[in-house]
Amino acid sequence: MHDPRTAYHSGEFPGQRQDSPGSHEAMNPVPDSGAETYVGHGRLAGRRTLITGADSGIGRAVAIAFAREGSALALNYLPEESDDTAQTVHLIGSAGPPVVQLPADLRDESANTEVVAQSLDALGGLDVLVLNAGYQHDISDITALETSEIRRVVETNFMAPLITIRAAAEHLGPGSCIIITTSIQACDPSPGLVDYAMTKAAQAALVKALAQSLGERGIRVNAVAPGPIWTPLIPSTGWSEDHVASFGQDTPLGRAGQPAELAGAYVYLASDEASYTSGCILAVTGGKSL
Ligand code: NAD
Ligand code: MG
Repeated sequence: MHDPRTAYHSGEFPGQRQDSPGSHEAMNPVPDSGAETYVGHGRLAGRRTLITGADSGIGRAVAIAFAREGSALALNYLPEESDDTAQTVHLIGSAGPPVVQLPADLRDESANTEVVAQSLDALGGLDVLVLNAGYQHDISDITALETSEIRRVVETNFMAPLITIRAAAEHLGPGSCIIITTSIQACDPSPGLVDYAMTKAAQAALVKALAQSLGERGIRVNAVAPGPIWTPLIPSTGWSEDHVASFGQDTPLGRAGQPAELAGAYVYLASDEASYTSGCILAVTGGKSL
């Protein structure tokens, strides 16, 4: 049994910043993706999963856990993230089910449909969609919010998951599921993340609506809502080094979370153990309330 206050890195972080999309390997400390600790039990044996934003952070932790649980994987990421993706693939290893890499910028509508088509082709079908790619940027003031930034947030967090689901829906059969990475920002928005928080709230509504329409076909739809998690998104949001240093210290558990602490939630939602769970927003927030 571990004390959750000290089970992973606790206390502040060294101040740091990166350009978006940020590198997992360049962070100090390097986020814990569970590569050293996650033990699989075949709970996703035979599944075929597409994960977006799979190179780093939460997506990397989910990729490692799903591979160890027996799922074949299609990994999507931005073309400039090939180094982080190579490390993810290395950590997964070659002993398990197939892993295919599908670099593409999902702000492009046709890229979403192509990633679905390539996943179907490479894996022979799709059973799980983990729609996890996301973008956020700090806004000092609403008057400083640039239209190009609004577009990037909306196209990445709002349009891309919707278009990917639309392309994949006809190929999903009974027992398959969709998992979206929303955020605590959906319910408890920060003023500096106004456009991002809007898209995360929209994702929560999407999950609740889709759970109703796809339930009739035996397809479950859920979301994970992370609190403050130590990933490349954080030093590349545009916050000051001091802000990054104190990231996550205000949670009831007194620290930021690590990607490894999210993987079990996704495995649960994708597995048969969650056969009666749909339309759920699962909070992994260090005790912060949704
Ligand atoms: P991350 O930077 O490791 O992952 C985000 C990934 O999104 C990037 O690696 C990139 O591959 C992908 N991405 C961004 N724009 C893209 C585009 N146009 N096309 C394709 N892929 C694109 O950071 P993370 O924190 O692991 O983020 C994963 C998800 O978790 C995001 O949806 C984020 O909003 C959400 N989230 C993170 C936190 C946190 O504190 N880190 C909290 C709540 C929610
Ligand atoms: Mg990345």
